[in-house]
Amino acid sequence: MSIRIIPQEQLEKGEARTADHIPPLLFPRLKNIYSRRAARLRQLAEKNPLGDYLRFAAVIASAQEIVLYDHPLQMDLHPRLRESAASGKPPLDIHTLPRSAHWQQLLHSLIAELKPEMSGQALAVLENLEKTSAPELEAMASALFNEDFAQVSSDKAPFIWAALSVYWAQMAALIPGKARAEYGEQRQFCPVCASVPVASVVHMGTQHGGLRYLHCNLCESEWHVVRAKCTNCEQTGNLHYWSLESENAAVKAESCGDCGTYLKMLYQEKDPAVEPVADDLASLVLDARMEQEGFARSSINPFLFPGEG
Ligand SMILES: [Zn+2]
Ligand SMILES: [Zn+2]
Repeated sequence: MSIRIIPQEQLEKGEARTADHIPPLLFPRLKNIYSRRAARLRQLAEKNPLGDYLRFAAVIASAQEIVLYDHPLQMDLHPRLRESAASGKPPLDIHTLPRSAHWQQLLHSLIAELKPEMSGQALAVLENLEKTSAPELEAMASALFNEDFAQVSSDKAPFIWAALSVYWAQMAALIPGKARAEYGEQRQFCPVCASVPVASVVHMGTQHGGLRYLHCNLCESEWHVVRAKCTNCEQTGNLHYWSLESENAAVKAESCGDCGTYLKMLYQEKDPAVEPVADDLASLVLDARMEQEGFARSSINPFLFPGEG
């Protein structure tokens, strides 16, 4: 079943309440999202061989929180949503949504927040980005959205993505609609923005307990995909679960022998503090293992782009 977002005014009477027992889509709740991520990154950095990189990511996440509150976004998404409901395309489709100057304001504000915190190579990258012209920044954003990673150096990509991500998360949080599950598949892409997941989370609690949601690496929405089904090719026959520690680990990789990819699964039940971006980044040893086994990642972490050095 694919997921469509229907404008509030087009919902049939009563549907808003009874829609589904399984909510197909969870829009982002921006309050605390970045502070929680930064705290989790710092916590995981303590006993991690990549601790320095996790702390670097934490500094960016903290800056995203400041920038989010300094630059609130107001936008009427009704026309966009009606269009999207008619075409069946995600309302904030990264390939078609015109970008306003807002994201570049976010980027410059992010650079200003980060400069005093960074040194060496990272500071040089920020100073370089600061001087980059608006059209060049637009070209880099488009290249990242088109997965043309050779066009954007991997040390610039996380900063550009961090600004784009705040912009998209702000828009996603403003969507005046509700999601409805429909027939047809295609759940490997975010139903809000068409980007890819960073990881999946098996929720706990009374509302979504036991359900698996994929977490968008751009707009921070989460969408439901049943467990025991490959999130990339929808096959069910050749799935295996891998972990580094025990059977009981909070982070596992779900591999699919049909399409040769894997995606991480984070279990809130095993560790309520799991956070998709942080826990994915902190478990890169598992990625190395999966590559050894011949599987390719179907997801992208916003702090780790496969660009040129
Ligand atoms: Zn998204
Ligand atoms: Zn597959």
